[in-house]
Amino acid sequence: MNIQSLVRENIKKLVPYSSARSEFKGNADIFLDANENPFETGLNRYPDPLQWQLKEQISTLKRVPIENIFLGSGSDEVIDLAIRIFCEPKEDHIITLPPTYGMYQVSADVANVDVCKIPLTGDFQPDVEAILKVVNAHSKILFLCTPNNPTANTFTVALIEQLLRSFTGIIIVDEAYIDFSSEESCLRFLEKYPNLIVMQTFSKAWGLAGIRLGMAFASTEIIQLFNKVKLPYNINQLTQEAALEALGKQTQQQVWVQKILEQRELLKTQLANLEFVENVYPSQTNYLLTKVNNPKKIYQYLIQKKIIVRDRSKVLMCEGCLRFTVGTPLENKRLIEALLMY
Ligand SMILES: *Cc1c(COP(=O)(O)O)cnc(C)c1O
Repeated sequence: MNIQSLVRENIKKLVPYSSARSEFKGNADIFLDANENPFETGLNRYPDPLQWQLKEQISTLKRVPIENIFLGSGSDEVIDLAIRIFCEPKEDHIITLPPTYGMYQVSADVANVDVCKIPLTGDFQPDVEAILKVVNAHSKILFLCTPNNPTANTFTVALIEQLLRSFTGIIIVDEAYIDFSSEESCLRFLEKYPNLIVMQTFSKAWGLAGIRLGMAFASTEIIQLFNKVKLPYNINQLTQEAALEALGKQTQQQVWVQKILEQRELLKTQLANLEFVENVYPSQTNYLLTKVNNPKKIYQYLIQKKIIVRDRSKVLMCEGCLRFTVGTPLENKRLIEALLMY
């Protein structure tokens, strides 16, 4: 597969900004190159543009070489950059599989890039035949969200691999919820498929949605494109420090995930026992897609009880559904108590 042939002409020709911190790397005593304030605040210097220290830790954790890692201001930045690197506005398109995460569409809309939507099948799996039928030279990116938001299931490996073998553009596998899933990550396919990008995030299992840090894993060729296009200092100093600290306390993350999984199963049973609940979908994530007989009213009732859930009842194939994020044991208890009084 020729990655370069998928890249927009203007990006191929782009001369990236060369920052002071990227022109001189290494140790020195006096830095008078970047017009910073010299007085020490702990934050007076520009951060490392390529986040080497942080990537080293992530590399060890994920067993992916540093040169195959890109860090973005949330996965959302990765989505946005990928569309701007590969999709020519008004000419190319991305493919999404609704119902799925809303940012693929929004980023494409901002870039004036068309979205070709191929709905999931009735069991929330990719419709491979229908996808391959619409593919042409302008199909630049296929987004596979697995586990999928909001349906909470994972896609079958056989279907993912079938798409990896046959899709002629870039495939982005969004694994925001992989830490809650019993399925293996698609990171294992990176070496085999140079057009694969796997995205993960610090926003969910790591408890760091507030720092905005997303990871992308891909071939060096794709990573170099991301580095060329990104803003010079896209990951700020505070974010890099907070992520390093979290990576030093991995047991904490595992304890949280374990608790959330236990709570998910408890909540699932309790929700399923409510008379107005028609279905609680199987979940490989930290939320439960739940079909109820009167979503609007239950949603409003919960707001009145000061509990906010996500109303997905107008989303294709999620008719009648609310999405409950798994909270703390106390929060989940209060949710169930409120619903029992409905
Ligand atoms: C929450 C979520 C993300 C995370 O986005 P960040 O920008 O990293 O916070 C990505 N993809 C999906 C499907 C999500 O639900």
